[in-house]
Amino acid sequence: TPQLRFAHRRGFKMPINIAIIGSGPAGFYTADALTRACKGCHIDIIERLPTPFGLVRAGVAPDHQTTKRVVKKFEKTALLDEVNYYGNVTIGNCVSLAELRELYDAVVLAVGAPNDRKLTIPGADKIGVHGSAAFVGWYNGHPDYQDLRPELNVGTAAVIGVGNVALDIARVLVCSAERMAGSDLPDYASCAIQGSPIYDIHLFGRRGPIEAKFTNVELREMGKLNCSVPLAKAEQIPGDDDPVLATLSDRDRRLSERNLKTLRTFSLNRPDEKSKRVHFEFCAAPVEVLGGDRVEALRFERTQVTDGRAEGTGDFFEVDCGLVVAAIGYRSDPIVGAPYEGDRGIIPNDDGRVAKGLYTVGWIKRGPTGVISSNRYDGEVVADYIHKDFGNLPKSDKAGRKGLESLFNARGIRYVTYADWKQLETMEIENATGVAPRRKFVTIEEMLKALDKSAPSREFA
Ligand code: NAP
Repeated sequence: TPQLRFAHRRGFKMPINIAIIGSGPAGFYTADALTRACKGCHIDIIERLPTPFGLVRAGVAPDHQTTKRVVKKFEKTALLDEVNYYGNVTIGNCVSLAELRELYDAVVLAVGAPNDRKLTIPGADKIGVHGSAAFVGWYNGHPDYQDLRPELNVGTAAVIGVGNVALDIARVLVCSAERMAGSDLPDYASCAIQGSPIYDIHLFGRRGPIEAKFTNVELREMGKLNCSVPLAKAEQIPGDDDPVLATLSDRDRRLSERNLKTLRTFSLNRPDEKSKRVHFEFCAAPVEVLGGDRVEALRFERTQVTDGRAEGTGDFFEVDCGLVVAAIGYRSDPIVGAPYEGDRGIIPNDDGRVAKGLYTVGWIKRGPTGVISSNRYDGEVVADYIHKDFGNLPKSDKAGRKGLESLFNARGIRYVTYADWKQLETMEIENATGVAPRRKFVTIEEMLKALDKSAPSREFA
């Protein structure tokens, strides 16, 4: 926040050693803040995948390339002398958190929330029901999900949730080939999506439009697509005099009013204006996934919103669909050696401090909310704490990256450096066709093979 002042920018008497686990926005904003708050410290960013940047690479929608430009800033940090990158290193497998805490003065957990919050209604395990982490990971070429192969040979899809991820999924499914040509959608996803006969996508909010989580720029974008028309029901959209609006903060009220205005314009659209349709349906709580082995329909209970809560009205309805994506939020995994608050899926912390020498930032610190730049504040706070906690030490007696690399050598662990990543990136750019910015490597195996080929004499640990 603007009020926050970071007073300690003097640097350390001796460089201390800091490990950041996770190379997404939270990790990189922290590294950047540390280079300023703790001048001269050694920062090692450790990442499970060979490729850096977390959700910027594998979460931000492939047609939102301008949002991905933030990696240019992260790259400046990665290329600083005091910063090292160790990709393809899984904590708990290659090296434990306890070992890292022995090797480093401070360890920052920035592993995000990579898993789906589970849809727990009956039938949610049917074929054709996916979580958004898996589905978004699939169309973004994430190594964990590139082989998801969702069945898109269906006429109607349902997306549960009305946040920005739900909008991303609906948009990617209806986007024209022309618009996607400038994206980094992998070929397999492009073929599946462009060959799909999905003409209707329904987005379901269990509460009303005032409570919807999407932001207005993203909502309005749905009205600007060539192939699809957004539709909303006028009777579901509250007026600007709705008393609930008066209870909101100025900021939230302005956002809601803008969304209501946009939804009103959607309610004037005709379904036959374009070949595909995105239907917004509010006050609809999913209660069951229907069908045999595969999903065939969703059953909903109509709700009314009281004091911000969705309450069932006892009215039920069904919508046929052959694909369901639950875009209902993400969850973090527990990390062996760190405390975990199961209810919220976060590491319990005091403004980023977890224990002596252990800190956390980003979605595993505060839950899966906010945009990329929301992580900047987390990084600054933790960098300041690390300075306060270690800035007056006469010297560090930790082995840091020397110790880490000898441990990797002893264990035969093949880590990927930032220079390796730049080689992979060069190949991805070279492999792209037309106006696509890159053609992603989508498995860890092919990434490592490509590195072998490009630098046969390279010595791996
Ligand atoms: P989100 O904004 O929290 O939205 C989740 C949606 O799922 C809400 O509508 C929520 O309804 C609904 N939901 C949760 N549990 C449900 C259940 N059991 N049954 C039915 N509906 C349920 O989460 P998100 O869309 O995953 O986005 C995560 C964060 O990333 C957000 O901060 C988002 O803004 C950000 N993001 C930003 C962009 C962008 O800026 N372009 C793009 C993608 C993501 P309730 O409100 O009733 O709980």
